[in-house]
Amino acid sequence: MMSSTQLSLQAKEAKHVGVAEGRPDPARESYADLIRSSIEEMNDLKKLQDSSEVDEKAFLETLPEDCRYKITSLRGTSSGFDASVETPDLTTDNYNDWLLEYGAITNTCLRKGTVKGESSGFFLRTYYRCQHNTRQWSPSKDPQRRLGIDPTARVKNTNCPFQLVMKISKENVTTIDIHSQHNHSVGTLEASNFKDLSEETIDKVYKLFESGLTPSTARQQFLSDLKSDCMDEITFHRQKADRSIMPRKRDFNYLYEQFGRERYGGKDSQMFVKLKERLDSYKEENPEASIKCQIYEGDSKPLIIALVTPLMKRVRREVPQSAELVFVDATSNTEEHNLKVFMLCTYHVAGALPLGIVITSDEKESTLCEGFQAL
Ligand SMILES: [Zn+2]
Repeated sequence: MMSSTQLSLQAKEAKHVGVAEGRPDPARESYADLIRSSIEEMNDLKKLQDSSEVDEKAFLETLPEDCRYKITSLRGTSSGFDASVETPDLTTDNYNDWLLEYGAITNTCLRKGTVKGESSGFFLRTYYRCQHNTRQWSPSKDPQRRLGIDPTARVKNTNCPFQLVMKISKENVTTIDIHSQHNHSVGTLEASNFKDLSEETIDKVYKLFESGLTPSTARQQFLSDLKSDCMDEITFHRQKADRSIMPRKRDFNYLYEQFGRERYGGKDSQMFVKLKERLDSYKEENPEASIKCQIYEGDSKPLIIALVTPLMKRVRREVPQSAELVFVDATSNTEEHNLKVFMLCTYHVAGALPLGIVITSDEKESTLCEGFQAL
């Protein structure tokens, strides 16, 4: 089967040849040769894997190292085989870690399918499929057809026949049946582009959001960090294509929504519950601070938060001019709800000293009066 990358490269190659017609360009010629030889190399490797019998040692290398294995059956070719192995080292506590490691070694992502209860001496049987076999399969999603229409299309659902069955017996011996036959590439950059985001990557992205970045600025920062971590260009491009290391643009948008929902309650009424919780916990940690909060209930009852921190209280107490001269600095358009932030300061030889902070949802005179009075 030809991958979309191969087809796309061929399309590009054809275009280049067309442009260079009558006036050969040596750089393009060598580029075309390079692509041609790479495709031939891949095809030769595939032919070799299709014809060579599966090797026991090579198969064991695809399994995570920490367990002892006994192969009870193994037949087929290197590119497609059926295997059954037993291990006394897998239990319900650690088989999920095993599956993650197996996915990392074989460059695949497994999806949990059917779970069957006690029968045939096993108390748990769980079926896993390849992520390139999504449930909503239809002939219109046939990858060959889609690639025929658009050679650069990203095709995930190939109705991949791969299957892994994890069977845990009452005698504490786990049997793993693997029908290892993928109908798509697993060793190319295109294949790694469909992998799941790793926990480590999600944490890194969350840290960028915590520092105040938006999805697009976080992506720029993430890319620049990745580039500086990579020793050379090839490693960078390899990692950039791997979705588990470098999330796609829409992943950043999705993670930003998730992050907002988890940390700030999302965009619905839940965010006011989270706000109340945060203000309460701030008050608990800083009993000297004074906080007043009016929760938004429509235009007639705007959001007003008036906050005086312990430092601000000290300035009010110790700096006499705080009773004579107050500067107000107003800011807005800083986040998605467009809240207005008013910072109150007074002058001092050391610079501006803070006196209070008011956050509101509008800039009406009545709202501001209410906010300033609450300080
Ligand atoms: Zn597959």
